[in-house]
Amino acid sequence: MTDCIALIVAAGRGIRFGGAHPKQYQLLGGHPLLTHTLSAFIAHPRVHGVRVVIHPDDRPFYDAATEGLSLLLEPVSGGASRQESVLLGLESLTEIAPSHVLIHDGARPFPDARLISRVIDALADAEGAIPALAVSDTLKQAAHGEITGTVSRDGLWRAQTPQGFRYHDILAAHRAAIGKELTDDAAVAEAAGLAVRLVEGSEDNVKITESADILRAERRFEPLGGSFRIGQGFDVHRFRPGSRIRLCGIDIPFDQELDGHSDADVGLHAIVDAILGALALGDIGQYFPPSDPRWKGCDSGHFLAHAGQLAAEAGARILNIDVTLICEAPKIGPHRQTMRERIADILGLSVDQVSVKATTTEGLGFTGRREGIAAQAVANLGFAHPGLRIGR
Ligand code: MG
Repeated sequence: MTDCIALIVAAGRGIRFGGAHPKQYQLLGGHPLLTHTLSAFIAHPRVHGVRVVIHPDDRPFYDAATEGLSLLLEPVSGGASRQESVLLGLESLTEIAPSHVLIHDGARPFPDARLISRVIDALADAEGAIPALAVSDTLKQAAHGEITGTVSRDGLWRAQTPQGFRYHDILAAHRAAIGKELTDDAAVAEAAGLAVRLVEGSEDNVKITESADILRAERRFEPLGGSFRIGQGFDVHRFRPGSRIRLCGIDIPFDQELDGHSDADVGLHAIVDAILGALALGDIGQYFPPSDPRWKGCDSGHFLAHAGQLAAEAGARILNIDVTLICEAPKIGPHRQTMRERIADILGLSVDQVSVKATTTEGLGFTGRREGIAAQAVANLGFAHPGLRIGR
């Protein structure tokens, strides 16, 4: 092999992921996810250059994620689908015309050096090579949640990336596959009649698809000295006559509303203060003072998203949130699940990371007299210490 370029596909939008950044740029172990991915290829002595296919809107994120990295070619913009993005990446290499390319998902941050070597080794005499793992779970076919059959797993493999090919072969195959929807580059190669060999994959070479995957991936960094911090928040807003009440990001029909400068969402305010507390970054009033007309009637979801952003900037990941609403009425139970989903959505968490509880005070005190609602919240934040080697 004379030269080998890694083509990293990172143009997807990660719609299911939530959060302030596209998933390729979410922090993992203190660095953007994509930085880990790129470092694996940059550090490999048999990779001679790395080109990344990005979403054009992500250029600032890309620049931040690649600061100080060597071997990177100028990034190129991707298309509407992964297949289109790969083709655009391959077309961008026509002048360089490497002998081989390794096509890899930007959202697979842990391809180890031996895995990359196995793919490159196979390309010495194979037209294509991909890492794969045998299916070990029993496979069931089901309809409407009931099993209709057991499928033999004989000969079934889970395909991973990087997928390696001779550059001219895979470029021609991709050009010929325009208009067909194929889920990986090996499928494009197969459609063109190329023989693609399987090499041993790695269980660590996971694809980050949902926010729960990031949490699992974060555990890799814990032995390096991860730490946790807890913050608590408390807030009260008084009732005034009205027709709906905003609590934990949702509207509940009620004969009162909460009085306040913003939308007076006492639940979200307590959560914001809990997150700020864990970061030791002050309180909600410092960031969104009631004296500022910008925040009049403001959706408190905006405040919560900002707190989530501050956590990300501090290298923290929110592990869980627990909020308790204290009132005699309205009834919270029927809305609990919607509230959890709303909070999780704003913070880019999964719903099982968010708890919403409610209690009365047995008729005692201001909440018992139905003068207002109180809320208290706890936020648990994890900090993973960077263990990343950048460059060669
Ligand atoms: Mg408040």
